[in-house]
Amino acid sequence: MSNEKHKDTEPATASIFDKFDLPFESPVRPAQLGLDDTIQFRCHKDIACFNACCKNIDLTLTPYDILRMARSLNIPTWEFMLKYTMPFEIDAHGLPGVKMRPVEGGSACQFVREEGCSIYGDRPTACRYYAMGTMELRRKDSSKLEQIYFMVKEPHCLGHQEPRTLTVREYRKEQEVEIYDEMNRDWMDIIIKKKSAGPAVGAPSERSLQLFSMLYDLDSFRLFTQSPGFQAMFDLDAETRTKLEEDDLELLRFGTRFIKQVLFGEHTIPYKEGARERRLQERREAIKHRQEEVARMYDTDEDA
Ligand code: SF4
Ligand code: SF4
Repeated sequence: MSNEKHKDTEPATASIFDKFDLPFESPVRPAQLGLDDTIQFRCHKDIACFNACCKNIDLTLTPYDILRMARSLNIPTWEFMLKYTMPFEIDAHGLPGVKMRPVEGGSACQFVREEGCSIYGDRPTACRYYAMGTMELRRKDSSKLEQIYFMVKEPHCLGHQEPRTLTVREYRKEQEVEIYDEMNRDWMDIIIKKKSAGPAVGAPSERSLQLFSMLYDLDSFRLFTQSPGFQAMFDLDAETRTKLEEDDLELLRFGTRFIKQVLFGEHTIPYKEGARERRLQERREAIKHRQEEVARMYDTDEDA
């Protein structure tokens, strides 16, 4: 996922991705790197291409990216979504994705300044990794997710010519990506599962797609977990409720569990006794009520 900071990605030649179920189409076919492989790369303020990669962006954001940037700007996630993002569809079923919205009428990131990134400490995953890319993938013959790394060599990026070598492990540490990878993993797992489940899962309902999109807007999701309907349906103890109110990371972890329950039936959040039956009954009564309304309207038309 994190190979897309810049639009003009140059296709490479090796084809490691042929062994994997890719979550979405990628034009990149680079060589796979392990944690102890050595790379040659350095990005710094005095390099001639400084900021070039932030001036023509194509940045997919994860729920954790959005959370970090919204907190950094001290605004709610829904406001961040409105001002700084645009939606796209990850797959043919319309699974919602979010990209960074560039400046009005241009292609530069809204956060790039002469002196560099104005939200550097909370920049998104793709920006941290670049010019390295990474993906969580599942081999075609395995159920286990594997994180792979590769270098994205684009002509405008001179960092590859800098005389500094380090391992992938050292580069990840320098860019502080561990927490990002940890918090992105479940979101990525949902996307990969959804893709590899194919017809077994089928097209998700409009409602479940709406719920999935709430993962990107955690402040709205928090309100949703506090709504009377949610509280009546799920059996959450006081400690869990407090964590969801106060702890963003716990809320995101809970959110991905909730979506896995909705989309794949992975039952980890307990229902209140009789809650599902009550909801079914309420839905049946609502449908009956609507049908009676329609029948009454027809009766009135015929009498007129
Ligand atoms: S968030 Fe920062 S690093 Fe990422 S594209 Fe924008 S300005 Fe560049
Ligand atoms: S070296 Fe590469 S990553 Fe660094 S500013 Fe230049 S284009 Fe961007």
